[in-house]
Amino acid sequence: MKVPFLDLSLQHKALREQALAALAATYDATRFCLGADVDGFEKAFCTTLSYPRALGMSSGTAPLHVAAVLGGFGPGDEVIVPAFTFISSAWGISYVGATPRFVDIDEETYNMDPVKVEAAITPRTKGIVVVHLFGQPAKMDELLAIARKHKLFVIEDCAQAIGANYKGTPVGLLGDCGTFSFYPTKNLGGCGEGGAFPSARADVFEQARLLRVHGMARRYYHDRVGFNYRMDGFQGALLNVKLPHLATWTARRQEIAARYLAGLKLAGLRMPLQPEYGRSVFHQFTVTHPQRDALRDYLAKNDIGTDLIYPVPLHLQNAYQELGYKPGSLPVAEKICATCISLPIFPELTDEQVDHVIRTVNSFQATNP
Ligand SMILES: *Cc1c(COP(=O)(O)O)cnc(C)c1O
Repeated sequence: MKVPFLDLSLQHKALREQALAALAATYDATRFCLGADVDGFEKAFCTTLSYPRALGMSSGTAPLHVAAVLGGFGPGDEVIVPAFTFISSAWGISYVGATPRFVDIDEETYNMDPVKVEAAITPRTKGIVVVHLFGQPAKMDELLAIARKHKLFVIEDCAQAIGANYKGTPVGLLGDCGTFSFYPTKNLGGCGEGGAFPSARADVFEQARLLRVHGMARRYYHDRVGFNYRMDGFQGALLNVKLPHLATWTARRQEIAARYLAGLKLAGLRMPLQPEYGRSVFHQFTVTHPQRDALRDYLAKNDIGTDLIYPVPLHLQNAYQELGYKPGSLPVAEKICATCISLPIFPELTDEQVDHVIRTVNSFQATNP
């Protein structure tokens, strides 16, 4: 039995007629940049996921850049970012000339460790990028207490956590703003690039609206230096077709995760902890094993696709070499990068496929552990 790591074609085949009809309507009405489809998507996003307000944007990195501008970060400022995440979590900080200050993670949930965040604060610290990695909400109470104490601007990178909540509050509404990505492989993926910017704060939101379109509230009058981070009409139209399915897809991801959590028994395998404060939407199901590479080869030989998400922590990426981190600086993130392996977890997987992954992982023979 073949189990691909991810197969986007199944979902797109199922929605093909509806998606193409929506695209045709957008095409015929020439609603190419923002417009009624994007307005409609923003409204549906807010209603479906309980946000007071949200802006559609051109990618998941765009709102991270906008958020860094609105945090008031600049040269000489430090902003705390977890070392184990996708690189975009740090890009916004770098784009405005501020310095990412990478902190280590909690081994059980792969999310930022509040104790290490507190220890990383200096007089120059201006903000925190909290990432809800793999769909699992981070420890917001602890992080927000630190942020309040030190007057930090809190950006929640929710790119992998659409539909997740922390003690009942949707992610992205606990800090000063949230950022989402609709990259095709995300839990809600467009057919191209897309992102969103919700905020609990009306003032932050209004400034983000300006920054999204050339700093312009009134046509051709520019109140501040802005960007072109508009969402395409086509993406708005497609996301409108897909959004009604998100709850079902998320429930299926959670079902698959529950099957893995109950069935995986391989010695030495560690599974992500499921804390009581918020249920993961399982963008990934990432486990660790001391013989990760051998396990990965074994799964590949048995036609099971896996991925390494992520192989290198941010503080050891070439792009951030000048910050002077060395191997050993952030040991938990480094250990996770060296031992993690992500298993297939997309909604269209069948129970038979999931059980095949479980059986195969459990039959792996580790050598001299
Ligand atoms: C995907 C992702 C982003 C960036 O999204 P793009 O749409 O690719 O720009 C940011 N942060 C995290 C954690 C992501 O997974």
